[in-house]
Amino acid sequence: MSHHAPLTKQRDYDVNHSFINDDAIWNIINACAQPSRDQVQQVLAKARLCEGLDLSDAAILLQNTEADLTQELFAVAREIKQKIYGNRIVLFAPLYVSNHCANSCSYCAFAADNHQLKRRTLKLDEIREETKVLERMGHKRILAVYGEHPRNNVNAIVDSIQAMYAVRDEHGGEIRRINVNAAPMDSSDFAILKTAKIGTYQCFQETYHRDTYQQVHKKGKKKDYLYRLYAMHRAMEAGIDDVGIGALFGLYDHRFDLLALLTHAQQLEQDWGCGPHTISFPRIEPAQGSDISENPPYAIDDDRFRLIVAVLRLAVPYTGLILSTRETPEMRRELINMGVSQISASSRTYPGAYVDSLVEQVDKQQFSLGDHRTMDEVVQDLVDNLESVPSFCTGCYRKGRTGDHFMGLAKQQFIGKFCQPNALITFREYLNDFANEQTKAKGNALIERELAKMSPARAKNVRGCLARTDAGERDIYL
Ligand code: SAM
Ligand code: SF4
Repeated sequence: MSHHAPLTKQRDYDVNHSFINDDAIWNIINACAQPSRDQVQQVLAKARLCEGLDLSDAAILLQNTEADLTQELFAVAREIKQKIYGNRIVLFAPLYVSNHCANSCSYCAFAADNHQLKRRTLKLDEIREETKVLERMGHKRILAVYGEHPRNNVNAIVDSIQAMYAVRDEHGGEIRRINVNAAPMDSSDFAILKTAKIGTYQCFQETYHRDTYQQVHKKGKKKDYLYRLYAMHRAMEAGIDDVGIGALFGLYDHRFDLLALLTHAQQLEQDWGCGPHTISFPRIEPAQGSDISENPPYAIDDDRFRLIVAVLRLAVPYTGLILSTRETPEMRRELINMGVSQISASSRTYPGAYVDSLVEQVDKQQFSLGDHRTMDEVVQDLVDNLESVPSFCTGCYRKGRTGDHFMGLAKQQFIGKFCQPNALITFREYLNDFANEQTKAKGNALIERELAKMSPARAKNVRGCLARTDAGERDIYL
């Protein structure tokens, strides 16, 4: 189907000029190369105010070598996470629609020159089947993923999203928010994408270091660094104000890419009055046909990964942090405590994988068991080990509360008023419709503990919504 839409905003920016200045970033990194204890402590004190950090502050934290101060940094990250996000954690699942790709990114299995890969672009009925499997697990949020290929043009993407939104589960439930990870487009195509009522549009720069970018993107449209760098500007021009930026850590020096991510966030704030809704920071994972993915030039070990998450949490306290890779339960626990606000659960990462997983469970159960934890296992782990409330809330998106229009105390009050209640209500919905008896009992006990922390008036209001949910009403949110 062909879709049309007008642009909603117009701004001036020079698309031929990079707002990432390599020398400037390296100068900041070098100027803070051996920070004193005092310097680190001053930055930590500033971070505790929850007002964010500037680039040199981040460079100081990234280069601190004192173990006790690193522990203090982690403690501040935990404080901020607790203060701003409480113990909620948003769950989502990726849905890979197409691995057809005309680019050749040296780290990705979908690269056009990986001739071993079986290519598949799901048809609309196959997309519906995948969506059904996710709905039956209890998912309400999907991240739709597409290779960059003429098949995956904006009209095909819009059609695929509409197909996902239209699927109903046996409880009458539906996918309530679809975020999109797809190649950058022109503003006019972004305007069409907006008509599909997407949540966040995500696109990662991978590395902001231009020479490295040029080396790892060997073929196709993605070679154009500036076109990708300004993707979010064009999305915002088209009225998509929830955007997610990211870097693929391992391609280049993590200090550079982290400072560049912050620069990108600042630039969006400056040009559009609104920073990114989320930041992603995947580490390179082994990918079929990619040597570089087996042996990344700047491999990120666990210590460095913790540092990246903690520094991001301090630097942009109000920006969602997404953990998309499958980490060990211990690592996941630590990173959630230190600031991650969204995680994927029960992920499968090729087109058709969820329907395949149903067959696999019958045929080769021993292989799938323990390898991919189910949604219910992830939920139980969050409740048991982290005292975290899995949230399926999509209230803001659906009430049109998009973009980041307010900060600070206002935002914290907002979270108490809306996010925490909505997390409990949507969690109850999950427990009633999808959880096994054990998860249900543990989850409901956690909901009670959370209600006990609220003011009597708020708790009463939420209890009312929970009772309506128990009586069969669905999709209640404040
Ligand atoms: N084709 C679109 C693009 O490149 O933006 C979207 C799909 S692409 C599969 C989504 C993201 O996957 C990329 O932005 C990249 O960061 C990530 N990715 C690719 N290869 C990876 C690997 N080996 N390990 C971890 N993430 C990877
Ligand atoms: Fe294609 Fe995206 Fe993979 Fe690059 S990262 S090969 S553009 S799917």
